[in-house]
Amino acid sequence: MTPSIGRIVHVTIGGSCKGAMVAHVWSGQTINVGGFDQNGQPFARTSVPQGEGEGNWHWPERVEEGRPATPDEIAKASQP
Ligand SMILES: [Zn+2]
Repeated sequence: MTPSIGRIVHVTIGGSCKGAMVAHVWSGQTINVGGFDQNGQPFARTSVPQGEGEGNWHWPERVEEGRPATPDEIAKASQP
């Protein structure tokens, strides 16, 4: 799925997911975001690549009835 301005994504910072909104889309899957840390403090990141690692963005994991998403579900949600 292609990111677009205004959508909510996760950015991995300090080893955990932080919610952020897409502020700009570069070519491909690279984006700028503005988000909030676990204390609600705002942060901004530019030229963030898609991925699961530190400093990357990904689509929010799906949670059903309190069950965390499986790796397969996360991978499927990340596909274009
Ligand atoms: Zn996440």
